[in-house]
Amino acid sequence: MGFWAKVGCTVGLHDWSDFKYRAEGSCEQARFCKRDGCTKVDVTTTHAWNEWVAVSHKPCFETQTCARCGKNDHRFNHLWSEWQYEAPQSCVQVRHCRRCDEGNEQQLPVNNAQHDVMPDDWKRVDCHNSTAYCRRCKLPLTMRGLIAIHRWPASQGGRTEVRCADCGELRT
Ligand SMILES: [Zn+2]
Ligand SMILES: [Zn+2]
Ligand SMILES: [Zn+2]
Ligand SMILES: [Zn+2]
Ligand SMILES: [Zn+2]
Repeated sequence: MGFWAKVGCTVGLHDWSDFKYRAEGSCEQARFCKRDGCTKVDVTTTHAWNEWVAVSHKPCFETQTCARCGKNDHRFNHLWSEWQYEAPQSCVQVRHCRRCDEGNEQQLPVNNAQHDVMPDDWKRVDCHNSTAYCRRCKLPLTMRGLIAIHRWPASQGGRTEVRCADCGELRT
């Protein structure tokens, strides 16, 4: 094997053959490095999926079969309604399948943006944190500000060090 070819193989740049099925009725394909002295084999599985088909007695349930190896796959394909709040005073959203009883999903609020809170609702707790109540579900929310809001004394009174009245941080 030539020097540069050998370097190619050591850094993973092999001279690959085409992918070939390893056996009849199997979807495993393999390719080989064509260079002398390199035994690298690369294996991949590619199924020849037929179309998804609905299962008649189970609404929303679909299956597909591989035309080559017979492998089965399945999925639910629900006909979802829009997301809606589960109740006027809840921030939990729900949606239901319009076609079957099995399709039910729930989404809990995971951040403040999913609650109903206005910028003016936030009240300062300390230099870093604010709190507010969600207008819809009434839960207390907290927010850590990206920028600290310190309370510097109105007058320095001749001091050279100025510290926040709340947290004692030194003004720089
Ligand atoms: Zn190789
Ligand atoms: Zn297959
Ligand atoms: Zn459904
Ligand atoms: Zn809320
Ligand atoms: Zn402070």
